[in-house]
Amino acid sequence: MLWPPLTILAIAAAVGIFIFWRKKFTRLERKMQVEMEDFQRHQQQTTIDAKAQQQVLFNSMLEGLLLLDRSRRIYLANRAFKNLFGVKTELRGKTVMEVLRLHELAELVERAETENQVFDYELKVPELNERWLQVNAAVISNSAGEREGTILVFHDLTRLKQLERTREEFVANVSHELRTPLSLIKGYVETLLDGARNNPEVSEHFLHIIARNAERLDLLIQDLLTISALESGRVQIQLQPVSLRAIAEKVFADLKSRAGTRSITLKNELPDLIANADEGRLEQVLANLVDNAIKYGRPQGSVIVGGKSLDGGKIEVFIQDDGPGIPAESLDRVFERFYRVDKARSREQGGTGLGLSIVKHIIQNHGGEVWAKSEAGKGATFFFTLPALPVKAAEVVEAA
Ligand code: ADP
Repeated sequence: MLWPPLTILAIAAAVGIFIFWRKKFTRLERKMQVEMEDFQRHQQQTTIDAKAQQQVLFNSMLEGLLLLDRSRRIYLANRAFKNLFGVKTELRGKTVMEVLRLHELAELVERAETENQVFDYELKVPELNERWLQVNAAVISNSAGEREGTILVFHDLTRLKQLERTREEFVANVSHELRTPLSLIKGYVETLLDGARNNPEVSEHFLHIIARNAERLDLLIQDLLTISALESGRVQIQLQPVSLRAIAEKVFADLKSRAGTRSITLKNELPDLIANADEGRLEQVLANLVDNAIKYGRPQGSVIVGGKSLDGGKIEVFIQDDGPGIPAESLDRVFERFYRVDKARSREQGGTGLGLSIVKHIIQNHGGEVWAKSEAGKGATFFFTLPALPVKAAEVVEAA
């Protein structure tokens, strides 16, 4: 008699337990699903973050970076690479040849694949303004040793190559400049030793030539030492209030007899300007420019030094002559080392070809600029700017 209610009770209990566990399972399942989704989202974010970090890292590199996949198609190219080769389009999926049309580079990739890596390969790219690149290429393999792709790193060597070339040219120029007076000295000494010394008139003439060339060598070496000191940054500029007029007076006094030999009149038209400059170096600048104006100016002509203050706390100084002037195409080049418009004339005047280059260095070290203007047959004018002394300090100097 008790069985039916007991059975019903048992069924009810079983249903209750079933519902309880189903709910619990459903909740658990939902929780797991949420956790799973969270995990996946986190994974995705981590991958995105890692990729972004990688991109930032690659793009912050100074070197160009190119990653090729197994089929030699571009997988990644960083910003420096794109800048280096001037490409703006999307490169992913393209081949090196499609993008750059550089056979040599395509060959380098093949070589890296066979040799596993190629280091310090120098690549000249005439299409990119004669750029010089150093390329390091290496194969990337997976843990099973299979080739996954190739990585190429590009260094821009152009500036280094230019410096190297400038240095080589400089050494060649210096050797040439030194050789000329030296071989003259050697030649005349040998002639004297061979018997010319027995003739007093001839030997005196030869000795004068030797002395002149020894003097030239001395000047050249002095200028070379100055240039090298200025370029290496070893020269410390000692800024102080300097009266430009007074410096010009001093330079004129030193060069008066030189001007006299060509009957050139020196005119100091500088107003009272106080520059913030290194007195010794400024004297060197004016001496070089006035000396050139005397050397290349018109005989019986005049050399004027003048100037004015400019807005923005600057002073402009000019040195003007009335000689034949400088051809337009040489106006900028005269400041280059050893550049001369007329080589023979410069040498004959005892020029080293370094004067204006020294001037440029000194003025630039003061934060100023130097330039030349000339009209054929109407003389040349050299200008330079210097920082003026701040107004208050200038008042004190003038009062003193
Ligand atoms: P240099 O020792 O030959 O004078 P610089 O560097 O002082 O060397 O000058 C370079 C060249 O610039 C000179 O050889 C000359 O041809 C030209 N030059 C400089 N100053 C003048 C000037 N006032 N008039 C004409 N040519 C000039």
